[in-house]
Amino acid sequence: MLADANLYINGVVRPASNGKTYDNINPWTAGVIGQAADATPDDVNEAIAAARRAFDDTDWSRNRELRYSLVSKFVELLVANRAKLVEIARLEAGSAIGAAARAQVDGALNGGKDLLECYKQIEWEQDRGVKAEMGSESKRTVFLEPLGVIGAITPWNVPLYVNVGKVVAALLAGCTVVLKPAPDTPMMGSIMGELAVEAGLPAGVFNVITSGEPAMAGEMLSADPRVDVISFTGSTGVGKRIMEASSATLKRVFLELGGKSATIVLDDAPNFAMAVMTTMVVFHAGQGCAYPTRLLVPKSRYDEAIQALQMSYGGFAEKWGDFEDPTCIMGPVISKRQHDRVMSYIELGEKEGARLIAGGKSRPDKGTGFFIEPTCFADVTNDMRIAQEEIFGPVLVVIPFEDDEDAIRIANDSIYGLGGSVQGSEERAMNIAKRIRTGTVSINGGMSITGDLPFGGFKGSGMGREWGVEGIEEFLDTKAVAIKIG
Ligand code: NAD
Repeated sequence: MLADANLYINGVVRPASNGKTYDNINPWTAGVIGQAADATPDDVNEAIAAARRAFDDTDWSRNRELRYSLVSKFVELLVANRAKLVEIARLEAGSAIGAAARAQVDGALNGGKDLLECYKQIEWEQDRGVKAEMGSESKRTVFLEPLGVIGAITPWNVPLYVNVGKVVAALLAGCTVVLKPAPDTPMMGSIMGELAVEAGLPAGVFNVITSGEPAMAGEMLSADPRVDVISFTGSTGVGKRIMEASSATLKRVFLELGGKSATIVLDDAPNFAMAVMTTMVVFHAGQGCAYPTRLLVPKSRYDEAIQALQMSYGGFAEKWGDFEDPTCIMGPVISKRQHDRVMSYIELGEKEGARLIAGGKSRPDKGTGFFIEPTCFADVTNDMRIAQEEIFGPVLVVIPFEDDEDAIRIANDSIYGLGGSVQGSEERAMNIAKRIRTGTVSINGGMSITGDLPFGGFKGSGMGREWGVEGIEEFLDTKAVAIKIG
């Protein structure tokens, strides 16, 4: 069981104002693992008002030393609570331990530390020199200033990673924050409120709203004129809705959305069979936005690639779905709804004429939760819906290509543009990487997603960048000041 997930508003950890809660569900068992406060519209209002006051009426936005030391303490406390965070990622987000410890939690904690280092590179005041214009001379400075109150709306798949990427960066920038975690992962938001109290963050600077109803709090944040920016991570459909709702108050909207990223394995990949084998979509049951879920292989070595995949999927067949195994990297999908959605895509793939070479079945024998086999479709064409739409489950599709130009064309033939990877000789792979229209690309397994590099999407994968210096600057605006000197 997990502790109850509470709201954190104006410095106080508390239940919803009407006392209502909703069930926090364990994806491994479909059982209840705790209760989460179900915020009312009054609670959301109070959180926005508190964040506004903390921004307008305190020196949080100006006192850089104070906030660096308090946010450092906050990150230290997150690190000190690693074991608890791993437990939450396992029980609430359905992460297997191998995935919970790595990307889910350690990635987020390392990212928090990276952001503290990136903060030191921000040039808060830039001397822009003296310029004569219209008969007078001016000495000019450009200042960076925080954007104000941030509404941070986050998903369930890697909840700590996304929460830290937004909250730590926005607080370092001098903004104040209302965090609205996904209904499926309330505790990963709520614990950040508890640790903020321990870190001594001033009241109102950071607030957390949990809600069982997916849209209410996010809609309120998007429409409210007291909120300056929405930083959203989630599906492309909801991203569009948020942009629409935010337009009436002309707020800035940063969107980190879905993906359908491609791995291109070239015929000169250092170890072709191994390169193909490592593309299985199994880590955290494929629930990663930048996960390359389309595998592009040369037509000339297609049969070899399919054999390599049959071998890797065959070897992995039962090495998943184990709650206790520390090496296990794949558990259930998050919910019954997601399970049914993924299964409907598997049925669709068969109807579209793709060839199932691994998996394809729901696996109730693994437990009472939401288990789906690692699944791979061969003979896919890029116009099929299983190649175009984000499935967000353990499903890989394999598509043959003629030559490098064809591989680039297929990789870019997507509404999305989030990530990708190329395996091959370095120069050739780099030439391809430069032409793929995505925010990150990995070459030969390079780590392109870390806390000190910018992350975000082209095209339908969103706008804006998180993490790295760019991720802090996203929450800053410029102000040019000129003094007449002659
Ligand atoms: P979702 O879009 O359903 O929900 C995301 C968040 O938006 C949740 O907190 C939800 O409660 C809230 N929300 C729902 N309706 C809303 C509305 N009308 N107004 C305001 N807020 C609303 O996404 P999800 O199912 O939680 O997460 C999966 C999706 O997130 C996938 O598409 C995945 O690719 C994407 N994702 C993207 C990134 C990235 O960085 N690009 C990272 C992780 C996940």
